[in-house]
Parts: sequence; structure tokens; C-alpha cells
Amino acid sequence: MTKFSDLALSPKVLKAVEAAGYETPTPIQEGAIPAALLGRDVLGIAQTGTGKTASFTLPMIHMLARGRARARMPRSLVLCPTRELAAQVAENFDTYAQNVKLTKALLIGGVSFKEQDLLIDRGVDVLIATPGRLLDHFERGKLLLTGIEIMVVDEADRMLDMGFIPDIERIFSLTPFTRQTLFFSATMAPEIERITNTFLSNPERIEVARQATASETITQEVVMIKPSRRDRAAKEKRDVLRAIIEREAEGCTNAIVFCNRKSDVDIVSKSLKKHGLDAAPIHGDLEQSQRTKTLDAFRDGSLRFLVASDVAARGLDVPAVSHVFNYDVPTHSEDYVHRIGRTGRAGREGKAIMISAPADGKNLDAIERLIAKEIPRTENPVQSTSVDAPSSAETTETPKPRRSRSRKPKPDAPKAEIEATNTETPVAEATPAPEQEPQQRNRGGRGRRDGGNKVVGMGDHMPSFIAKSFEERKAS
Ligand code: AMP
Repeated sequence: MTKFSDLALSPKVLKAVEAAGYETPTPIQEGAIPAALLGRDVLGIAQTGTGKTASFTLPMIHMLARGRARARMPRSLVLCPTRELAAQVAENFDTYAQNVKLTKALLIGGVSFKEQDLLIDRGVDVLIATPGRLLDHFERGKLLLTGIEIMVVDEADRMLDMGFIPDIERIFSLTPFTRQTLFFSATMAPEIERITNTFLSNPERIEVARQATASETITQEVVMIKPSRRDRAAKEKRDVLRAIIEREAEGCTNAIVFCNRKSDVDIVSKSLKKHGLDAAPIHGDLEQSQRTKTLDAFRDGSLRFLVASDVAARGLDVPAVSHVFNYDVPTHSEDYVHRIGRTGRAGREGKAIMISAPADGKNLDAIERLIAKEIPRTENPVQSTSVDAPSSAETTETPKPRRSRSRKPKPDAPKAEIEATNTETPVAEATPAPEQEPQQRNRGGRGRRDGGNKVVGMGDHMPSFIAKSFEERKAS
């Protein structure tokens, strides 16, 4: 078995690794660290939770320990898709570089330019940034990227989802051709493949198992619900969430509740609070200071429920999260894997419970295909909403090809704002408005709305609850 001491890292780095309590390198570390130390480009196909952050920070610290930064010319650059991830990478640098003198700056939106300018002016060894904010600094003439020796792109697939690829290409072109590139992505979409072919030079490719297969310690379940009436669906779903939390009782020490939409993050958080549960929201529209405060409270155990959107909570590393509740079925199956990976970390037990309505059948099916197993169905703990076993029509429907979630930033919007708006996905797919997806109406599980008094285009597959409310309306 490989030990850290076999990886040719400097004693100072090894000491920090030991202090962090790591005994053996993870597969991505075992593959990436020696190659990076040899100065090679690395293409790591790995998700969060695999130890990939240390797989690039450790060799970087080793290599940057010699040499000095010049004013406004950082020596290395780590690009992250979100502020939270960038902040987390910065924390990792602090941990692993404790015995080495390195300067770093974190360039993320929501923080004043002035402070960041000051740091850059003094010269930094490591610059950790989100793409939008980095380019803002560059365009203001405050930053030169011609001194970059090592460039890391973390979570490239999420950058793609968020429409950051043109920014990444531009940043690549602003750095020297001779730089070393360490590039990480959970998946290799064609667009990502293209970028790596263009900007990486004969990389060492390391692919590690998907987290879905690694997280054996997570118990998964899905609670099937069927709203009694469309106009009650949201309230009933919140009731179900609370009932599940009650059912889990003390076993649920802390949890992340994932919603697909920012508006629901706020609503669910408020609702939990109203019912006496200790909850706070986190999503891209909130002030950075508030996001940081909420995360800190969740990390130190003083906040029990973190209600989150995918992006805000992505890659979050809170070691002991007992539960993940998927209030919504994620529309992209990989998000399910990311979400549930927030629990069951470092060999701990974890529980991932998802609420699914008939309209979510297609997405649930895609998730089960991705993780290659059926998630056990459990009973809806609330009586008022009926327990619904999925019909075969709902679960065997073939999902639409994945739609790119890239959104073009408005050209006149400031970059920081673009970053904030880009950090969230407006997910209309799980609960489509009728005018948005007319082509879906013939599909029983999805087309759920009527056009005034008339249910249009449902064919033989009209869900029974629609018929009921329609008749009720007719009678009245
Ligand atoms: P990451 O994939 O970088 O988000 O890392 C996931 C978690 O694994 C973090 O909590 C790290 O502190 C932890 N970790 C990283 N490398 C190791 C290792 N070699 N042994 C044990 N834990 C590790």
C-alpha cells in the first residue's frame, strides 16, 4: 500500500498531512501527486469526497515553497466554480501549508475589491478565484496572469453547467503557455474533452470511481407522495418533510435539505423555523456575509438544518452530517450523487431521504440508472397525502437528453452579479408550468395543469387527482 512518505512530498508538507490525520493517500492523490511533482499536466476525473483537493494543493505547496511572488503577478491560480468551493480550497491551503511560508488571496464575488487588490498588490503565491471575479480584477488592470506557473481548474463540469467555459478559455489564454495545468472534472462531457485537448499537454489521466459507488455507508430511501390537490401540493410536501424529520427523531442530529429552486430554499427554511426547527437558508442570492455565517453555524453544530440549493452547498465538506433530505428530486442525476455525498463522509453512517411526487418519476428513474440500483420506497408518513406507488409509465419513461444549463450572462451586468446569478439553476423541469412545456402534456406523469376549466391533452393518462379537482370545480 502506498504511503504519503512514498510520494516524494517535502517533510514540511508531510508533517501537515500527518497533522491532518491522513494515513494513506486516496487513489486520486496516489495518481496525481507524483505526476504533478514531476511537472506534468494532470487530468483528474474525480468528484468531491475523493480527496481531490489535497491531490492538487499538496504538490502545489511543495513546488511553490521555493521562489517568491512578485506584485500583481500571482505564481499559481486555482479556479473554482463557486465562492464556497473557493473558500474551501483556501482553507485546505491553510491546513496543508501551515509549515510553509506561502501567501494566498481569495478572489470571490460578494467581497470588496479593495481588500483583494491590496493582497494582489503585495504579491501572492496562490490565487484562488471564481472565474468572473478573476476577470473583473484582470480587466481593471490590477492583475497579471503572465507569472502563472501552475493553474488548477477544479470542478470543470460544474463550470460548464454554469456557463463559465468561455471565461475559462480566456483565462487559459492569458496565462503562459509553459504553465503546468492540473484539471479536475467529475465527468468528461465533450466540451470538457475539447478544453482538455486544447489546453493540457500530454496529461497524466487519473480516473477514480464515482462517489455513488463509494458511499456505501449511506442509507437511501425515497418517500413517494401524491398531492391531494395541486394547490395544496407545496404545503403538503412541507408537511411530509417535517413528518420525516420527526420520524428520524434524535438520529437526525443535523441535516442539509436540498431544494431545486432558490425560492423554495427560502420557503422551506422559513416553514421549518415556523414549526420550531432550527433552520437557515443558503443560496446564491444571499449576501456573502450571511452565507458564510450560516455555513459556519452549520459547521460548528449550532445550526441543525441547512436548507440549500445545489450550487451553494456543492462540495461542502462538513464531516458529520447525519442526514441529507432531498426535498426535491434533482433534475440532473449527478446532482443526486453530489447531494447525498454530503452525508456518510469519512466512513460515517449517513441517511439520504428524498421526497418524490409522480411528476418526478422520470428524474427518479434517471438517478436510479446512474447509481445502478433501486432506491427503497418508504411510506409517506403523512396521512392526508396518499402513498403512491410509482406506475410503470412514470418510472420507465426515457429521459430527455440532458439540457445544457448554461445561461448567457447579460452583457451589461457586472461580473460579480453574473456570478451570483450563474450559481443557481432555475429548475422549471421538475414542476413545469403548463406554458413552458406543451410538448410534455401527453405524458401522464408530467402534464398536470388544466387550461381553465378544461384539462387539455391528457389523453388516457390524466392523473386521478386532476380529475378529482376538475370535477370538484365543475360541481362548484
Ligand atoms: P475532497 O474530495 O477534496 O473534498 O476531500 C474530501 C475529504 O477527504 C476532506 O474532508 C479531506 O479532508 C479528506 N481527505 C483528503 N485526503 C484524505 C486522506 N488521504 N485520508 C483521509 N481523508 C482525506
